[in-house]
Amino acid sequence: MEQIIRIAVQKSGRLSDDSLALIKECGIKFYNGTGKLKSTSTNFPIEFLFLRDDDIPGYVADGVADLGIVGENELVEKDKDVLTLKKLGFSKCRLSLAIPKGQDYPGLEFFQGKNIATSYPKILGDYLTSKGIKADIHEISGSVEIAPSIGLAEGICDIVSSGSTLMMNGLKEVEEIFKSEAVLISNHDLNEAKKSIVDKLLFRMNAVQKGKISKYVLMNVPNEAIDKIIKLIPGMRSPTILPLAQEGWSSVHSVLNEDTFWEHIEELRAAGAEGILVVPIEKMIL
Ligand code: ATP
Ligand code: MG
Repeated sequence: MEQIIRIAVQKSGRLSDDSLALIKECGIKFYNGTGKLKSTSTNFPIEFLFLRDDDIPGYVADGVADLGIVGENELVEKDKDVLTLKKLGFSKCRLSLAIPKGQDYPGLEFFQGKNIATSYPKILGDYLTSKGIKADIHEISGSVEIAPSIGLAEGICDIVSSGSTLMMNGLKEVEEIFKSEAVLISNHDLNEAKKSIVDKLLFRMNAVQKGKISKYVLMNVPNEAIDKIIKLIPGMRSPTILPLAQEGWSSVHSVLNEDTFWEHIEELRAAGAEGILVVPIEKMIL
């Protein structure tokens, strides 16, 4: 039978949409109807398992799945022996300590001898140990934010993204202890045939990711400014320059990184560029 790899992705939740979107952007087709727990791609040797995110590190470590997409928070908490192949740049969040809004916060020693409720006992325990703080960690699996108001704990440690859930529950964030994003993980012992499929998938994911952080830029430039403009835009190799119908002008095309994008645009305008068009890139293969 032809080799196929299995990837575990979250069934539904804050990881699943972006995980599936990334796979689709890699040109991989599959059907995921509601309630389906397994699905095979029609155009790539990959099979999907739709699971709770808590189970993904374990399934990958045991080899039930070859690959998985999971948050670093869940990965580190579960402490399974898997390889991290790639950070994926989505589902970004942080784990933070929070206490009731009205409490004074003198620093981490606040937590000395206190009760802290969390769904992340390992990450929190390691953090407190590294800081020399001894606290009682109460593991609860959900609705951690209500623990202080019902007298279960004096503080909590939970996932924060905007902080609005904390605020709604009368809490304030006092320490960030862990930063997380989605990662692609792999089992340690893939055979050569599986590894080569994983390489193909990684190649596609890298192309999608590079495309996302780059923009294709076109602009009109007076010929006498071309040299100056070229120095400002480090293109993939060198920019493309095409003459315009209007005498003395050219169209310059290049690829810019999104991070430094605005800075470059200002410099280009100052150097005489006009009619600047910025176009998204779907995929970029170098
Ligand atoms: P499951 O039912 O699969 O166990 P869950 O309830 O444990 O799901 P979700 O709330 O769907 O988990 O979050 C999944 C992951 O998404 C988290 O472990 C974290 O890595 C990330 N995440 C959580 N909250 C946010 C957020 N507000 N913004 C971005 N990413 C988040
Ligand atoms: Mg979960």
